[in-house]
Amino acid sequence: MTQPQLDLSPAVSDEIRQTTCYMCACRCGINVHLKSGRVSYIEGNRAHPVNKGVLCAKGASGIRQITAPSRLSQPLRRVGPRGSGAFEPISWDEALALAVAWMAPLRETAPEKVAFFTGRDQSQSLTSFWAQNFGTPNYAAHGGFCSVNMAAAGIYTIGGAFWEFGQPDWEHTRLFLMFGVAEDHDSNPIKIGLGRLKARGARVIGINPVRSGYNAVADDWLGITPGTDGLLILSLIHCLLEAGKVDLPYLARFTNAPCLVGPDGLFLRDGQDKPLVIADGRAVAFDTPGIQPDLGATHQGARTVFQHMAERYLSPEYAPEAVADRCGIPAPRIRALAAEIADAAFNHPVTLEQEWTDFRGDPHKTMTGRPVSFHAMRGISAHSNGFQTARSLHLLQILLGAVETPGGYRLKPPYPKPAEAHPAPHCKVTPGKPLDGPHLGYPRGPEHLCLKDDGSPARIDKAFSWENPLSAHGLMHMVIANAHAGDPYRIDTLFLYMANMAWNSSMNTAAVMEMLTDRGEDGEYRIPRIIYSDAYASEMVAYADLILPDTTYLERHDCISLLDRPISEPDAAGDAIRWPVVAPDRDVRGFQSVLIDLGARLGLPGFVDAAGGPLYADYADYIVNHQRRPGIGPLMGWRGNGDAEGRGGPNPAQLDRYIENGAFYQAHVPDDARYFKPWNRAYQDWAVRTGLYDAPQPYLLSIWSEPMRRFQRAAEGQGQRQPPEHMRARLKQAMDPLPRWYPPFGDEAARDYPLHALTQRPMAMYHSWGSQNAWLRQIHGHNPLYVPTAVWEAQGFAPGDWARVTSPTGEIIVPVAHMPALNPHTVWTWNAIGKRKGAWGLDPNAPEATKGFLLNHLIHELLPPKGDGQRWSNSDPVTGQAAWFDLRVRVEKCAAPPPDEAPEVLPQFPVLPDQGRGRA
Ligand code: SF4
Repeated sequence: MTQPQLDLSPAVSDEIRQTTCYMCACRCGINVHLKSGRVSYIEGNRAHPVNKGVLCAKGASGIRQITAPSRLSQPLRRVGPRGSGAFEPISWDEALALAVAWMAPLRETAPEKVAFFTGRDQSQSLTSFWAQNFGTPNYAAHGGFCSVNMAAAGIYTIGGAFWEFGQPDWEHTRLFLMFGVAEDHDSNPIKIGLGRLKARGARVIGINPVRSGYNAVADDWLGITPGTDGLLILSLIHCLLEAGKVDLPYLARFTNAPCLVGPDGLFLRDGQDKPLVIADGRAVAFDTPGIQPDLGATHQGARTVFQHMAERYLSPEYAPEAVADRCGIPAPRIRALAAEIADAAFNHPVTLEQEWTDFRGDPHKTMTGRPVSFHAMRGISAHSNGFQTARSLHLLQILLGAVETPGGYRLKPPYPKPAEAHPAPHCKVTPGKPLDGPHLGYPRGPEHLCLKDDGSPARIDKAFSWENPLSAHGLMHMVIANAHAGDPYRIDTLFLYMANMAWNSSMNTAAVMEMLTDRGEDGEYRIPRIIYSDAYASEMVAYADLILPDTTYLERHDCISLLDRPISEPDAAGDAIRWPVVAPDRDVRGFQSVLIDLGARLGLPGFVDAAGGPLYADYADYIVNHQRRPGIGPLMGWRGNGDAEGRGGPNPAQLDRYIENGAFYQAHVPDDARYFKPWNRAYQDWAVRTGLYDAPQPYLLSIWSEPMRRFQRAAEGQGQRQPPEHMRARLKQAMDPLPRWYPPFGDEAARDYPLHALTQRPMAMYHSWGSQNAWLRQIHGHNPLYVPTAVWEAQGFAPGDWARVTSPTGEIIVPVAHMPALNPHTVWTWNAIGKRKGAWGLDPNAPEATKGFLLNHLIHELLPPKGDGQRWSNSDPVTGQAAWFDLRVRVEKCAAPPPDEAPEVLPQFPVLPDQGRGRA
């Protein structure tokens, strides 16, 4: 008898198309399997540099995004009151004509009255180019409420930041410390990296109030009290300085530690404006060939940065015994951690047999580094002391000699890139003309602030004003509140893309919904017009007047560009595309193509040709043919005749080449350029050849920040541009040129609220859209408030109980759960799982709406009034980063809210009508 022939591996598809995932910001390569033209399966692309075939739950679940009932299906115009969700379908021609009719007159008269802000989109080099050519100063993406403290502190200190702009040297690091890293960020790359460390027996330490995710698989965990990371880091620095465990040769050669600080707090400089150091008893420019700068020199009353630094951090106020209670970590553990860091760094150096030449022309036989690396994320960033905390962490890396050395932290092209190599912000408005330059940048002093002639903020979000001088990503979280208050001025049209500002992307959510619907004495809305583009029926949709429905990420072109946020690795510059692996089955258009169309209809420079016709057919056409500088375009691969890398003219076949190559391109860094990049001649020359820089730009790591000192001097009364009187004391404290720690703002006002309250996104979700995904909802359908043991017992909680959670701003009633692995003064929950009833195509009784909740209702966008008549935003005073994690609450056991048989979290809001194609 013959056995039946079984097909044990039936083909899941008849075609595979390779593109780039967008279920989080990691941008992994994916193979999208199609069967009869429909997506049947998504797997990781093994040849892709980001994920090497690894696919997470989010990535696999992308298949449910293109069938989600919440997908918007056609352009919509509001017909009922704003917030009611009453819309009528209109054609694209009508929609675009309406948008042009609203915005064109404003461009000719007052372009600043259009405010264009985007969420987690990945096309900021296009959106900023559009806004610049429209002429409004009011543009930014979501970085201000995400992690600008990390980005700005990194750029100003080491010329690159944590997260996607660098990574630990996974191959050589011996000790890896994570500060405030939630598991939604850096998903597959960090998981792969942790796997490599564990396989080698390297040690991993998590420093986080909550032990979940990566912290749960760490070898050790320090459950720090929120907002005190900076204090812990400076205490570690105290211990290392006390023990003499800092890398003096590295500090002398590659940092501004030997630079001479004059009595005015600025560097002594030579005739060519180069900072001076002392070498062999002579004052010489820092880049003089062959010198050994002296870290302990004095000169004409000036001392070195190293002396200022040692004096500050050796102070007893940073001793472990002085900070232990505040940080919630015993002093012996802090000392033990410092000793462990010192042991890994100085008793186990990594030496690579690789010759290289530094920027002074000095040859080196080997590359030697310190195998201690760090990673940090929003946990340290989203506080009102987050900028200085992130700077403190970079200082620790610098003192160890662990930036851009083997075993340490490695930057990814186009980084390293110091603040001076970035543009300064621009804000000069000329009706009918483009803005005078890029909106966002890195100010070097008060002269770069975005202020009007009368000294008031030039931008609606008050970015780059005295309130937040280094707000490199803008303050999206303040736009609606400021526009509603008319402070600093009123706007007409709020144009938002992919930003759920009526729900989880806003502080004080209920009040924001009221602001969006509030009318002035004339009966008109205070924010007269709102245009919104999204692929899904988020909570924000109901508050828009005009909806431009976007495609999903599998249905459109995208460009993951070196002009923006590429997919580089430390050893290779890399970029990638998305392309329509399936065609939309509804009347939607990719937002980037719509923006290009709008640009042409508005006649914006850069979007029309000499005859006034459209310059680009769509986004794909723009990706291939746009040139930011001659020969430099959105994509680096296959330029010119198809063989040029980085620099070269447009190649009509470029997108085809990307598609053939798995949707990505890599340019590899030469062996002698792999480390010491800021000072390595071979790297600097390679970066110029590949179009990353126009000229070599070596620089010193910045322990002492001169840009910050310039603002501090202004606060002291020096210089032409002076802050208002009420800002002086705050600026003097916040703009300290050496990293410092101060308690989070609002601590005083929160005395009656003894617990810190945090949120983090889970590993299985990243965007708001994750919690309406049919597969991912099964992992997280609702979210309890996790409570530490001491609070659990004090309140007499039992499983299934509910609690009233109160902050100075508001109150919520939510289910609780016990979590022992938690800082004893902290409660927390998952963010953005809670949905408003009726939104996202979900059934009004879906668990996301009845047992899912936000802490946003408890967080105010302003600090409590100080009695000075000013509105002080709940933000970091340096960058304007939203201080989400400064929240303090009280937790009390209470009865479950009605109905008895199925209690629902409070507050609840009126059910939104279904804007999608049915309920899930
Ligand atoms: S880590 Fe992010 S980009 Fe990678 S597969 Fe998962 S969701 Fe997609």
